[in-house]
Amino acid sequence: MKIVILDGYTENPGDLSWEGFEALGNVTVYDRSNPSEVVERIGSAEIVITNKVTLDASVFEACPSIKYVGVLATGFNVVDISAAKHRGVIVTNIPTYGTAAVAQFTMALLLEICHHVGHHSNTVHAGAWTKCPDFCYWDYPLIELAGKTMGIIGFGRIGQSVSALALAFGMNVLAYDAYQIPDLENEHCRYVGLEVLLEKSDVISLHTPLTVQTEGMINADSIATMKDGVIILNTSRGPLINEADLAQALKSGKVFGAALDVVSKEPIQSDNPLIGLENCIITPHIAWAPKESRQRLMDIATQNLKSFLQGTPVNVVNL
Ligand code: NAD
Repeated sequence: MKIVILDGYTENPGDLSWEGFEALGNVTVYDRSNPSEVVERIGSAEIVITNKVTLDASVFEACPSIKYVGVLATGFNVVDISAAKHRGVIVTNIPTYGTAAVAQFTMALLLEICHHVGHHSNTVHAGAWTKCPDFCYWDYPLIELAGKTMGIIGFGRIGQSVSALALAFGMNVLAYDAYQIPDLENEHCRYVGLEVLLEKSDVISLHTPLTVQTEGMINADSIATMKDGVIILNTSRGPLINEADLAQALKSGKVFGAALDVVSKEPIQSDNPLIGLENCIITPHIAWAPKESRQRLMDIATQNLKSFLQGTPVNVVNL
């Protein structure tokens, strides 16, 4: 059984092992693959593992030996699943592996806006405290979260975990979701409509998937209804935000600060309107990536393939 891993580097840059896959077949791992290399690299392999490399109908046509595609991620839009189904190829994903990590990272982004810990440590090491006439200094307004309102758009696994952390910081939570689970409400956490959430929140955090309904939901019109000085966090998907509109609102001060782990086009383009704005923190899509999460992802991906080989596939996305 030939197994080809097309872009293994971000999942395993060297600190994990592919041995789970190696126990199941003859594995070839590529760190990354360009579109022009995909067909040749798959060759006669039956099993293809991809993270972000696109497998469209032409790949399935050119590589008829493929029987199984394992996506090393939750989102599987890189695979043309109907073309795969048409050819009898099973496609699986990893439904959940990094909920705790993404929630923790969301709070890290918020705390960075509140305290600028990295900046203050760097300036201390550079001598600013040594020269300071006072016993302390701070270069940004410092913000206390207790008593403030966190609006969470998309109250699924990650949204609920962010809520638990926000509540632990003494915040109140307003949740908006297409589907509501009343049991999740309590004294400090309740569901509201989107308009109320936008109007009443001090911090707005995005946790919906990218769909036609959610694309561009943060734009000039929705920002206009938010509190002056609102903070916006996005660890979900970049296209949820109209970046030109957000850049404008960050420049005017309508939005006090934004912190984004995802942008509309990744890796970020040099002409992205958010680049260079001091009140916009941008990280390179790393919320998912602590070693613990990647190990969990590896274990589930291996189990997915094992189940397929045993004739009882799980986590299939193209039934
Ligand atoms: P989930 O499916 O558990 O939760 C998503 C929630 O959004 C669901 O409750 C759903 O009902 C709700 N929703 C869907 N469409 C909606 C709409 N139009 N309006 C309001 N609510 C809507 O997913 P999750 O595990 O919590 O992940 C959330 C998102 O986080 C993922 O879609 C993914 O884009 C992103 N993510 C990012 C990283 C990262 O590294 N930055 C890692 C993992 C996931």
